[in-house]
Amino acid sequence: MAIEIPRELVESLRRARRVAVLTGAGVSAESGVPTFRDAQTGLWARFRPEELATPRAFRLDPRRVWEWYAWRRELVARAEPNAAHRALVAMEARQPEFTLITQNVDGLHTRAGSRNVIELHGNLHRTKCFDEDVAVSEWTDTGDVPPRCPRCGGLLRPDVVWFEENLPVEALARAMECSAACDVFLSVGTATVVYPAAELPLRARAGGARLVEINPSPTPISAQAHHVLRGPAGEVLPELLRAWTEHDPVLSPREDPPDARGDVT
Ligand code: NAD
Repeated sequence: MAIEIPRELVESLRRARRVAVLTGAGVSAESGVPTFRDAQTGLWARFRPEELATPRAFRLDPRRVWEWYAWRRELVARAEPNAAHRALVAMEARQPEFTLITQNVDGLHTRAGSRNVIELHGNLHRTKCFDEDVAVSEWTDTGDVPPRCPRCGGLLRPDVVWFEENLPVEALARAMECSAACDVFLSVGTATVVYPAAELPLRARAGGARLVEINPSPTPISAQAHHVLRGPAGEVLPELLRAWTEHDPVLSPREDPPDARGDVT
C-alpha cells in the first residue's frame, strides 16, 4: 500500500524543535499483541473489563485477575517489537527533543530502544503491593496466586493502571507538559477514548502543534487532526520517517555536505 505523506507535514517535522508522540495498543498489534477495542481481535471482544481490570475485580477474584495478566505477560514476552516501534526509535535518534508517551503496558518501546518514554498506564512486567501501592521486585514463591508481598503479606498485583484508578502523577504531568509544548504531535494506534490520555492530542493542538493521526480507523480526534494517515502503524511510521529524512541535508551529508552549506562556517 502506498502511503502519501503530505509535503506540509514533512516540512513541519523538519522545522520542529519538539516532537511528541502518543501511542496506544494499535502500535503493538503488528507484533501480535491484541488491542482492547478492535471488534474481532480486541481483548474486550472476549473479556469484560469490569471483571478483570478494576480494583473491585481484583478484590473479588484476585487469582483470576493475576492469571489474566500472567497470560498477557507471557504473550508479550514472546512478541517482538515491529517496524512501528523501530521507526519511533529512529525518529528519536534524529530529533533532540522527542518524547514518546505510551498507554501501552507491554514495554515494547523500551525493548526496541526508545529512551525518552513516559509510561502512562504502568508496565505489565512490574509488580506492586495492592495494599501498600509500592513496587515489589522479589518475593518467595509459596504457591500462593497471587503471590504475597514480602513486607506486609498483602496480595501482589500488576503495576498497571486499572479503570477507576488515577494515572501516575509525575508521568501525567510530564506528558501534559510535553504535549502542550511540542510543535508536532503524532497520535498513533490509539482509539483516544481513554481519559486523560485522550486529552493529550487536543492539548497539543490547542498549544499550536500540528496534530497527526496514524490509525487504520477513524477516532474521535480524527476531525481535529491536521493530517490523518490511514493505515497500520508498521507501514505508515517507516514511510513517515523516510519522507522526513530523505534529501534532508542534515541526514544526507553526501548530497549536501555541511561545509558546502552557506549558513555553516
Ligand atoms: P484500543 O484497543 O482502545 O484501540 C486500539 C486502536 O488501535 C484502535 O483505534 C485501532 O483502530 C488501532 N489499530 C489497530 N491496529 C492498528 C495498527 N496496526 N496500526 C495502528 N493502529 C491500529 O487501545 P488504546 O486506545 O491504546 O486503549 C487504551 C488502553 O489499552 C490502555 O489503557 C492500554 O494500557 C491498553 N492496552 C495496551 C496494550 C499493550 O500494551 N500492547 C494492549 C491492549 C490494551
